[in-house]
Amino acid sequence: MASFFSRFDSERIVAAISAAERRTSAELRVHVTKRVPEDLDFRALRRFHLLGMAKTEQRNGVLIYIAPRARKFRILGDEGIHAKAGDDFWKGVASVMEAHFRKEQFTEGVLVGIGLLGEELARHFPRARDDKDELPNKIDEE
Ligand code: CA
Ligand code: CA
Repeated sequence: MASFFSRFDSERIVAAISAAERRTSAELRVHVTKRVPEDLDFRALRRFHLLGMAKTEQRNGVLIYIAPRARKFRILGDEGIHAKAGDDFWKGVASVMEAHFRKEQFTEGVLVGIGLLGEELARHFPRARDDKDELPNKIDEE
């Protein structure tokens, strides 16, 4: 199991989240599950709520939910973001990440995804001087 999670370099991923959040008020988070979820959309959404991601002030939390064993992932954005970024944006990010995952470059895929998300979020939700870190910058594992 250790080798499974070690494919995600937690230190680099957390650093990328922190870097992105220096430019945006949005909150990014990554969750890696060892499950092979039958209903990925349901699981991802459930985790989104369990992590309190729907409780940000501007409704701009984004969760990258990854189920490596199922070779699947989802990117979930709260409603504030959906009001601003179109479907094409999400699909674009997902396809870039997928290309990395297919080559088993898990950390790289996540880093690229966070980078793209961070840029877009910074445009719509620039960070204010009094920004709060509403959710811890971390990678959750389950
Ligand atoms: Ca924030
Ligand atoms: Ca945060």
